[in-house]
Amino acid sequence: MSQPLQSQITEERAAELRRRLSGVEQRIQAATAASGRTEAPGLIVVTKFFPASDVLALTRLGVDQVGENREQEAGPKAAELAEAGARPHWHFIGQLQSNKAARVVRFAQSVHSVDRVGLVNALERAMARRAESEPVEAPLGCYLQLDLRTQASREQNPDAPRGGAEPGEMIRLADAVAGSAHLRLEGLMAVAPLGEDPAPAFERLALLSSALRERHPGAVQISAGMSGDLEAAVAAGATRLRIGSDVLGRRPGLR
Ligand SMILES: *Cc1c(COP(=O)(O)O)cnc(C)c1O
Repeated sequence: MSQPLQSQITEERAAELRRRLSGVEQRIQAATAASGRTEAPGLIVVTKFFPASDVLALTRLGVDQVGENREQEAGPKAAELAEAGARPHWHFIGQLQSNKAARVVRFAQSVHSVDRVGLVNALERAMARRAESEPVEAPLGCYLQLDLRTQASREQNPDAPRGGAEPGEMIRLADAVAGSAHLRLEGLMAVAPLGEDPAPAFERLALLSSALRERHPGAVQISAGMSGDLEAAVAAGATRLRIGSDVLGRRPGLR
């Protein structure tokens, strides 16, 4: 069964992915050294909008963490990869409606967009139901997505889409995840606010992470940094980077 997907990987594309991935890895190494850190953050390659054959090519290059933001696209892609014998860790990083939780936990091992208690409860129910019908190896990794906008930028742009929970909600959300049998609290996730300098925003995230760890010492992960701002994220202590376009190229379509 692995033949069809494998055969869609052209030599040219494989070489391009190798070159781009290696460039990103070098940027991460340089940023790690520049910020005096001894350990580089983990790389999650965001493969949204790109075909399953690209994901397979990336796994052949050693990528074992991938991110997707749409359940309709990610589920079938993960199934194709599994059929081809590749089982990377799938991180779900997009906005998630509670009624899609059951579909997401079928393929994803982590969710980075946990932003409300209703979603925590839906994920827990979905995992509990899955555990009734099949052995579940590990709890679902949960990252609390926080909105890092300053008060000023919220007031300037009140209609901007909300990206994550208000920081004041963090502890309530964390307690809800920690109290759920099938979920594991990994830490925090954020996207740098549009039109703001990412560096101070990621510094605010680092402070929130310290506050979180006072109460939940195991919740050490900080998922922050994309193609355009990975250096600022590494400097602020990100433990996981979510990089799409710099590895795969410009996304087909608008995004
Ligand atoms: C698409 C996406 C990324 C990757 O963005 P790039 O700029 O392509 O690196 C990271 N995080 C989230 C939440 C995304 O939706």
